[in-house]
Amino acid sequence: MRLVMKFGGTSVADIERMHNVANHIAREVAAGHEVAVVVSAMAGETNRLVNLTRRAQITDKHEYDVVVAAGEQVSIGLLAGILQSKGIAARSWLGWQVAVHTSDAHSAARIRSIDAGRLQTELAAKRVAIVAGFQGVSGGVSGGVSGEDEAMRVSTLGRGGSDTSAVALAAALAADRCDIYTDVDGVYTTDPNMVPQAKRLAQISYEEMLEMASLGARVLHTRSVELAMAHHVPLLVRSSFASPAEDDIIGTLICDEDDIMEHEIVSGIAYAQNEAKITLLGVDDKPGIAARIFGPLAQGHVNVDMIVQNISPDSKKTDITFTVSQDELTRALEVIKAHEKDLGIGSVNTAENMAKVSIIGVGMRSHAGVAQKMFDELGAENINIHVISTSEIKVSVLIDADYAELAVRRLHAAYGLDAPA
Ligand code: ADP
Ligand code: ASP
Ligand code: MG
Repeated sequence: MRLVMKFGGTSVADIERMHNVANHIAREVAAGHEVAVVVSAMAGETNRLVNLTRRAQITDKHEYDVVVAAGEQVSIGLLAGILQSKGIAARSWLGWQVAVHTSDAHSAARIRSIDAGRLQTELAAKRVAIVAGFQGVSGGVSGGVSGEDEAMRVSTLGRGGSDTSAVALAAALAADRCDIYTDVDGVYTTDPNMVPQAKRLAQISYEEMLEMASLGARVLHTRSVELAMAHHVPLLVRSSFASPAEDDIIGTLICDEDDIMEHEIVSGIAYAQNEAKITLLGVDDKPGIAARIFGPLAQGHVNVDMIVQNISPDSKKTDITFTVSQDELTRALEVIKAHEKDLGIGSVNTAENMAKVSIIGVGMRSHAGVAQKMFDELGAENINIHVISTSEIKVSVLIDADYAELAVRRLHAAYGLDAPA
């Protein structure tokens, strides 16, 4: 069997934990598997590097990536060395050495392709490949003979991106499975660090996991789930803190919906903090206005999430409300300011410290009243809903961040997700 094993920051937080990780790898090697490993930076390291770029006021995204990608270089070298000390043949691989080719959207690059050839040879020779997660190389494959834009530059995939490195590598190597080792023993009905009653799910569909991830459950990087779904990579989320000697796997398998026998109506609850709400009051109510508002925001790299347009009583003016992440609020307001006159905006209201709470489940497709129950429960707690958005398998509400935890706990109990006491 060919395996990709990924270890996150807390799993390689210190040398002792790296030894534990090496023992997990040793178990799979001893079982005769071909193993490629993807590692994150040691816990806290990427945050430290990001802070340095802030203090140095680095604005060039290429240099930002050069700095923040450095954490993974340390962990792959340490882990490869520790494996060697245990008599296991291993070597480290940086993104560009593999090579992992990415788009040039620096700090949020997407993997375009992976040259799997050299790693295939390594694996066939029974050497463990320890690959740096989170990073790749952008620009011309030839090394950029035709100018700066084409030059190969270190790129990073966005925070939490090592999961995506692992899944992309599993797809490129046609691995039988991709194991994501982390600090919890699987995907839970909601963040187990916030709600102790959360239950581990034995299985969850790619689609539900994709919603959970994109709606705030940081256990997997959203793009990693997208890739796993597209390339049919079976993903197993499991704990690196479990004993490496243990053969019985406890974890969560992320797989096709059809492979899951029974579906709950709601499988999980996700939440995202740090949301901000912007309302444009008195906007001209005429065709094309939404495009003229959201076009410049997209060009300004502002990610707009929930959108509501109110009906206008006189068909002349209307209000439009939308949400952005708090980090992007200033940029969003700058863009709006620049287009204020052109759009005929009366005034702009903003509200910070909002949270988005979402219920997710494929079972919703065939059940009525799921959203209604959510609104009833929040109403009973006196929690005001600012914006609602729905899709086939999720309902999201925007509420004041102060009530996020209460809302998640209440909904978790209401949809029968609490573990038996
Ligand atoms: P790693 O460093 O291994 O990538 P992360 O911190 O990125 O780990 O992700 C694991 C964390 O995700 C857990 O510690 C947990 O707090 C959080 N989390 C949020 N939602 C969930 C969920 N539904 N199931 C499991 N973990 C979750
Ligand atoms: N080290 C990177 C981060 O902290 C990538 C990852 O851990 O997945 O965001
Ligand atoms: Mg992570």
